[in-house]
Amino acid sequence: MINGFIYTSFNPVQITNSLLINDGKIEIIGDNDKVLDHAKKENIEILDLKNKYYVIPGFIDAHMHIDELGEYINGIDLRDVKSINELCEAIKNKKEKFKNWIYGHGWDQEKFLEKRWPNHYDIDACTKNRPAIFSRVDLHSALINENAIKFLYSFDKEVYGIEKLPNDEASGIIKETAFDEIRKLMRENRDIEEQKELIELAQDELISKGITSVGFMSVDEKSLSAILELRSENKLKIRISAYLNSDIMHKSKQIKNDDLFQIKGIKLFSDGSLGSRTAYLSYPYEDDPQNRGFIAMEKEQLLENCLRAKDLNLKTAIHAIGDAALDNVIDVYKKCGKGNRIEHASIIRENQLNELAKVNPIIVVQPHFIISDFWVINRLGVKRAKWVYPFKSLINHGLEIAFSTDAPVEPIDPFLTIDAALNRGSNQNIELSKYTMHESLTIQEAYIAYTQKSAVAIDREDLGSIKIGKKGDLAILDKDPIKDYLNNRVVMTIIDGNIVYQSK
Ligand SMILES: [Zn+2]
Repeated sequence: MINGFIYTSFNPVQITNSLLINDGKIEIIGDNDKVLDHAKKENIEILDLKNKYYVIPGFIDAHMHIDELGEYINGIDLRDVKSINELCEAIKNKKEKFKNWIYGHGWDQEKFLEKRWPNHYDIDACTKNRPAIFSRVDLHSALINENAIKFLYSFDKEVYGIEKLPNDEASGIIKETAFDEIRKLMRENRDIEEQKELIELAQDELISKGITSVGFMSVDEKSLSAILELRSENKLKIRISAYLNSDIMHKSKQIKNDDLFQIKGIKLFSDGSLGSRTAYLSYPYEDDPQNRGFIAMEKEQLLENCLRAKDLNLKTAIHAIGDAALDNVIDVYKKCGKGNRIEHASIIRENQLNELAKVNPIIVVQPHFIISDFWVINRLGVKRAKWVYPFKSLINHGLEIAFSTDAPVEPIDPFLTIDAALNRGSNQNIELSKYTMHESLTIQEAYIAYTQKSAVAIDREDLGSIKIGKKGDLAILDKDPIKDYLNNRVVMTIIDGNIVYQSK
């Protein structure tokens, strides 16, 4: 690669014009003649960037769900639905394309004209007699139709999170374990070929955004088999660090990691989400004074799983959104050791920062939550606003933060994530920005969090920067990433030295 503007460092900014990737690894940096000479000798293809294009390390989305992203791309898009009537119409128009369950994602009752949660009566007519599930924007609750409700009563265990109508019948809104169980059922109905198609859909979308590696969280058995099949068919293009559901952690022993796909850890939940008022808080919700949220897994069990994972040489990643959940996770990691991850860490009290620094987990954040959770002050009140997504405070306390999108919860476009980290919604009228602008990151910090630090988060020290010996994973952009990030565009994505995406 010659005649480019190649970022070998973001802080301080260092740019060079050429590099050579040999056998998947960066071998020479910054010497046009040497690169040309070597390329000729070793018969390596030369890419001339014509003093026009910019090169950065490929983005690493440290926490996302590749199977759900595929579902999301294939499912009915309900993000812009503004009323319950519109919801029904949107479903009716698209339902024919599904073989089995009808599914979709992204509705938000906060956006509805009717200002209420929907129920199954609202969608029964537009889904007819097939089971249907439509997840809420935060992926912590869903609306199901009458046909799917009957499955709620087929489980042999007690499920938490079945919302009721005043007459005590199931409303169709399901949360937490009820949601998990129904979704599991839908996925069980899907064959492996369909699962592979969804993963391939997601992978193509990711590489088109310059993303070269992902931390794939909450991997279940079906997705694991699908990925292994794709790998053996040579159809895996993106690098995946997998964090398995704890019930299948033992499988890591039977599977060999290779350069693209590696099983790195397990994923656990300590609480729910703010949107569904299930994030576990130390003080009650501002808009629900009787409620402090929900504990998804007690401390003892988190620790037991973390220790079991450690025995298998796996890292642990624990979802903690509320500050009380974070207290629990800090306690667990004090006993389970270093190198583990905390996912989200959305609400952090000032007195938790030092505690966190002592345990020093890598904190995997989703800056775009700031935009999607525009109602967060309603949940927490103004006093707690400054505790929300305190990225700068974390860095100032010496903690490492890695960027991610939790896709499909947030859009996978890295430039949108970066914008949220820089502006905290101040350019989109987000109320939180009024209280937390001091938590904005610099653009350099943002790129570092999305590349180098995300590489640490997904436990791949061979990725994340343009240095000799690192893997040749790159994103080629049509504009300067520092000067013009928002109108920037990925023109090419390179993984392991191979072009895997090229814009038209
Ligand atoms: Zn997630």
